[in-house]
Amino acid sequence: MSDIELHISKNDITLILDELEANRPFEACGVLVGIEGRDIVTVKQAVPVKNSKRTERSFELDPTGFYKVWGDAEKEGLDIVGVYHTHPSSPSKPSDWDKKTMQDTSGIWVIAGIDGIFAYRMVKGMVEFVEMV
Ligand SMILES: [Zn+2]
Repeated sequence: MSDIELHISKNDITLILDELEANRPFEACGVLVGIEGRDIVTVKQAVPVKNSKRTERSFELDPTGFYKVWGDAEKEGLDIVGVYHTHPSSPSKPSDWDKKTMQDTSGIWVIAGIDGIFAYRMVKGMVEFVEMV
């Protein structure tokens, strides 16, 4: 269990779960915009971004979409605190590909799968479960 908490609204959870259904059988992905505190990471908005890979087993945030979200966040004084993606036909546990990609990022990973929606982050090469409040 991680020593940080992720605060995310019901609306944003619903948005991610809707994206999971709407993009079946492909993975959907997006960016979590918010505020990164010491113990609490707060999501202000989950923003869908096109999955430029459009596959059933991986995702890649479309660069143009990503930079637009980043620019908008910066204008509002917010950070990119993480990413979300969906597993349309498997549990939300990070896949081997996810873990490899997580090594290069510091943010929170929210994954919606067939068993629900969960948050993770990578700390010193280990995947930690992050509690969503
Ligand atoms: Zn994944």
